[in-house]
Formats: sequence, structure tokens, C-alpha cells
Amino acid sequence: MADVRLAGIGMTSARTRDRLVQRLREQGIANLAVLERVRNVPRHIFVDEALGTRAYEDTALPIGFGQTISQPYIVARMTEALLEAGVPDNVLEVGTGCGYQTAILAPLVARVNTIERIEPLLARARVRLKELGVRNVRFRHGDGTLGWKTHAPFDGILVAAAPLSVPEALLKQLRVGGRLIVPVGPEGEQELVRFTRREQRMERESLGSVAFVPLVGGVT
Ligand code: SAH
Repeated sequence: MADVRLAGIGMTSARTRDRLVQRLREQGIANLAVLERVRNVPRHIFVDEALGTRAYEDTALPIGFGQTISQPYIVARMTEALLEAGVPDNVLEVGTGCGYQTAILAPLVARVNTIERIEPLLARARVRLKELGVRNVRFRHGDGTLGWKTHAPFDGILVAAAPLSVPEALLKQLRVGGRLIVPVGPEGEQELVRFTRREQRMERESLGSVAFVPLVGGVT
């Protein structure tokens, strides 16, 4: 039973996933390891059963608590942007949500430290990642705007919700050469940005306009 659920049938089958990978390629995702993860991670188990047949559309879908699972293109784009200059060892992810982005990323790096402010979402993500056999993830219920000092510095930081301006703590917890991928700005005007820490300065590149849920301080 569990195998059938993970493998998927019909609209959640491997064939449907292949079509999604093909679309992502056409949209410019070139990193083969990332595309392979999209092919192998069953996105349908991260959403409500009723939404399962829509899991391989390239759209965000509701996951409860007013939050969404990110659009596959965006997950792939952010992961690719993080990996571009070499594979980061120690990564911080802010905004675990349902854990889909975590599942795509984790096997591509040595360790993911992931923080989510909504406890039930974190609890569910934990179960799903375990089910998928993803083991190199540390989970924390907390406010990701503060980063995760105990495990800093990070080679990469990926933020899945948009702050109005980049939290200082995240920039501080980045290693020299490390990269921070973060959507910045108010709803309707967000830009995906990649910061790279250099010895004396912070490099900033725009990766285009995006739409994310807001990054909110505090926990629930
Ligand atoms: N990558 C996730 C997307 C989740 S949406 C996925 O694939 O499902 C963004 C998530 O960020 C939400 O779950 C939201 O609760 C969380 N979030 C918002 N502000 C946060 C904060 N300050 N600290 C940690 N998580 C936060």
C-alpha cells in the first residue's frame, strides 16, 4: 500500500512527473541533479489527497494554515541558484512548509537545517521526509528571521517566504563564498535575489520577479 502511494498512479504516476520535468527543462532549468530530484520526489504526498491529481501542475497549492507548497519551477530555480557555484555543505532553509523543497534539496547537499514557524506543518514535513528516507535534515520550530546560530555559518541559505527587507541575521550567518537565495519585497512586487558573501562586501544578483507568502516574525 505504502509503495503504491509513494509511486503514484494515473495523474500522480511517474509519467505525469516526467511531463513536469520536460516543462521545467523548456522553462530553462538545466541542472540535471535538480531535474532528477523533481522526477523522483512524489509531490502528491505533500498535498491533501483531494489535490493529488493537481500535484504535477506547475502551480502553488494550498497546504493549510494559509500557506502554500511552492510551484515546482520556483523550487527547481531556487535549488539550481543555490547549487550553481558548487555544492554547499551546510544549508539553512527558512520556511519548511510541507517539506517538498526540503525533499528536493536534501540529497543534493550534506546537511539541511530547516525552520518553520507553524508547528503542525513542521510535524507533517518531518513524517513525510522520513517516509521518503531523507535523513540529513535537522528540523526546528521557530522564527527563521533569526537564522539558526548553533549550526551557522552556512554555505547556503534558502528562504521560502518573502521579507520586506533581508533579515540581518541571515546575512551574518553566511560563510564567505556562501549564498543566500531570498524573495524580497511586498506582495505583488517581489524579486528573487541571490546574495553571495565576499570577503569585504555582499554581491547581489536579481533572479527575476516572483510571488511568495510573506515571511512573518514570531512563531505559532
Ligand atoms: N518550500 C515550502 C514552501 C512553504 S511556504 C514548500 O515546499 O512547501 C513558506 C513557509 O514559510 C510557510 O510554511 C510559512 O509558515 C513559513 N514561514 C513564514 N515566516 C516564517 C518565519 N519567520 N520563520 C520560519 N518559517 C516561516
